[in-house]
Amino acid sequence: MKKIPLLDLKAQLATIRDEVMQAVEKVLDSGQYIMGPEVRAFEEEVANYLGVKHAVGVGNGTDALLLALDAAGIKAGDEVITTPFTFFATAETVSRLGATPVFVDIDPKTYNIDVDQIRARITDKTKAIIPVHIFGQPANMDEIMAVAEEHNLFVLEDAAQAMGSEYKGRKIGAWGHAATFSFFPTKNLGGYGDGGMIVTNDDELAQKVRILRVHGSNPKYYHSMIGYNSRLDALQAAVLRIKLRHLDNWNDGRREKAALYNELLKETPVVTPYEGKDRKHIYHLYIIQAEDRDELMAHLKENGIACGIYYPVPLHQQEVYKGLGYGVGSLPNVEYMSKRTFALPMYAELEDETIGFIADTIKKYYANK
Ligand SMILES: *Cc1c(COP(=O)(O)O)cnc(C)c1O
Repeated sequence: MKKIPLLDLKAQLATIRDEVMQAVEKVLDSGQYIMGPEVRAFEEEVANYLGVKHAVGVGNGTDALLLALDAAGIKAGDEVITTPFTFFATAETVSRLGATPVFVDIDPKTYNIDVDQIRARITDKTKAIIPVHIFGQPANMDEIMAVAEEHNLFVLEDAAQAMGSEYKGRKIGAWGHAATFSFFPTKNLGGYGDGGMIVTNDDELAQKVRILRVHGSNPKYYHSMIGYNSRLDALQAAVLRIKLRHLDNWNDGRREKAALYNELLKETPVVTPYEGKDRKHIYHLYIIQAEDRDELMAHLKENGIACGIYYPVPLHQQEVYKGLGYGVGSLPNVEYMSKRTFALPMYAELEDETIGFIADTIKKYYANK
């Protein structure tokens, strides 16, 4: 039986192998392995790609969130509003700084934070909002920025899943006061190891994260802040520079695959993804809803098709956040979706025939029910 993975990084590597090998050799021969010219060049290229002033490479996407929030002055006693439908790091970094994440329910169509519910959760302790462009679908940045401006709040976009996404023709990452990316291998722009980035148009914030990432020092061995050790490797930067040149192609490929899935699944009971108005969704994950999810997933796996749940437990229901007091039913949309949604295979090299096979397997499941 043919096995179909959720994501095939080896198929992607096969398309860029020579370029990658040359870049890796160049870095190895340079003798400079952390930060340096490759990292500086990559930072400049990302800033140009997104249309922002500053890009600062760091160790991973979690540190990017942590350093950006720290630089923005988030501290114990503060409240930060975010979505419960995201990877744990979004809220973890808020808690790590001693602040409290405040979870707002999601819009059931886009799976992003429901902006209409943000206002009701703002208190005199609220300092920031972290929208997450979940699965590659842009959050409603216009309205989020308007609420933030009204209440003088810092907006940090968690764009870990959305490199190349657009909202109203402007790139995601260029909307908030700052944004963070992850280059974890499975992200749309992923390295061959950990990596992350903070982008901003704010000179002061950029300077602060540049100092924070190297132990709060500037110049070296002169420490003005308590910082972190969170630097980007030259090898990762060199690889990511190559991949950035292919990113738009790969994202367009994902959009084509998503359109084909949507078409083929139209007459089944599953709910296919919704692309919000004025948005360019880049399908970091292709997420569908099914009433009988676990049974359907078992059927797909029996037929060699990988699938996965993102995320099985919404953050307000995580054990570590029990103390925050969100009861069952407190955020009904996300609780409902976390029981119905799952991801189908999605990557630019996925063949149309394979998508046809996956759709047929889903149709057979419903035909035999
Ligand atoms: C992957 C991810 C992160 C964390 O990035 P790492 O590089 O794994 O630390 C944060 N937020 C979201 C939404 C992510 O998907």
